[in-house]
Amino acid sequence: MKIGIIGGGIGGTALAHACLQKGFDITIFEQAPAFGEVGAGVQMTPNAVKAIKGLGLYDDFLAKGFYPDAIVGRNWQTAQENFRIDLGDEFRAHYDAPYIHIHRADLLDLFVAQLPPDVCRFNKKCTDVAETATGAVATFEDGSTFGADLIVGADGVRSAVRGALFGEGDLRWTGHMCYRALVPTDGVVDYVNPDSTFWMGPNAHVVTYYVKGGEAVNIVAVTEAAEWVAESWSTKASKEEMLADFAGWHPTLETLFSKVDEVYNWGLFDRDPMEKWSTDHVTLLGDACHPMLPFLSQGAAMAIEDALVLATALSLTPGDLKPALARYEAERLPRTGKVQLEARERGRTYHLPTPEEMAARDAEYARRAKEDPRTTGINTDWVYDYDPRSFGPFPAEAEQA
Ligand SMILES: Cc1cc2nc3c(=O)[nH]c(=O)nc-3n(C[C@H](O)[C@H](O)[C@H](O)COP(=O)(O)OP(=O)(O)OC[C@H]3O[C@@H](n4cnc5c(N)ncnc54)[C@H](O)[C@@H]3O)c2cc1C
Repeated sequence: MKIGIIGGGIGGTALAHACLQKGFDITIFEQAPAFGEVGAGVQMTPNAVKAIKGLGLYDDFLAKGFYPDAIVGRNWQTAQENFRIDLGDEFRAHYDAPYIHIHRADLLDLFVAQLPPDVCRFNKKCTDVAETATGAVATFEDGSTFGADLIVGADGVRSAVRGALFGEGDLRWTGHMCYRALVPTDGVVDYVNPDSTFWMGPNAHVVTYYVKGGEAVNIVAVTEAAEWVAESWSTKASKEEMLADFAGWHPTLETLFSKVDEVYNWGLFDRDPMEKWSTDHVTLLGDACHPMLPFLSQGAAMAIEDALVLATALSLTPGDLKPALARYEAERLPRTGKVQLEARERGRTYHLPTPEEMAARDAEYARRAKEDPRTTGINTDWVYDYDPRSFGPFPAEAEQA
């Protein structure tokens, strides 16, 4: 089967790797001149790690990752620990996978390193995709075209493939924007714990964690805004703006923010869950079909799960796309839609405005974490429990084992 993948991000490259393992003929089309990711971290929750295991890349992944000790909720002003979810042996055994922090470039590289050198065509911006009698054809800005049995749109939240198939639809301004920065640790940073720390305050929250094996601290600092005025959704910001927006927050954060060198401000957009992702010879994957707020740390996770499931579905009925795409959607659409909506809801829960509401939320998280210390306490068990490997046999893991 000949497959064209539009977009060489985390989702597109994970899919390319999965499909090559199944023996499919793959070409990636990426609009940029080279593979690349933003200079920031990403949290890989156990469900994502299970997908990476299924793709046979677990050992390489762990070599680049950082094991946090715990997920910790702290008060924005006092740093009081409001809840703690231990991510040690019990947690890992319960979910059959650890919780890992990794730099985005390292995650992308995990998949890219598996690809033959000529599998991706760069500077290829897709402008249209159309069904033909026997397949689909993608058209690019330079006027060239590519025909295949299947075209997969893995081209992110402003997906051209999605637009061609289902119309642009509304990209929804979520009312949130965030600062993203990395602070090198230069050996030791004694004021940031080796945890996934959620600092929750009124109408804002900050997440800090280590990446690059502990060489840098990743910061995601989320605030609220009535609208996003910048044309691009990522603009260069200053340390001073970031410090001003988080004035009055705990001195640990003030110290950390004061060490920031380069900082970007991101507008956060999402979409409503779709009812359908596929036509006869075209489908979607990752942010192209289910863009979501990052508050459950699931966007890249969902894209990697999609990749494993889609490649497996295609291999179950070789040459017969209809049942394969139907299986893929049936497996993935309900789950990703639920995660999209729950991530939206976290925008409210994490930003409760009054001390009373915050205290009630934190007490509930702490109660749940104590009641069953193996699970998350923050009501994400249903996200982490999912095992994309159970969708179908995938030989890579068996070979690895
Ligand atoms: C602040 C923040 C924090 C996050 N934290 C986490 C986290 O902790 N855990 C997690 O799992 N997720 C997280 N995410 C979400 C995650 O980054 C995304 O969901 C993920 O990168 C989506 O991957 P993708 O491959 O679907 O899309 P993208 O990464 O957007 O890749 C799309 C690719 O397609 C290319 N492209 C676009 N249009 C075209 C075109 N027309 N033609 C050709 N190529 C095209 C682009 O250049 C790009 O390379 C976070 C997101 C944000 C904003």
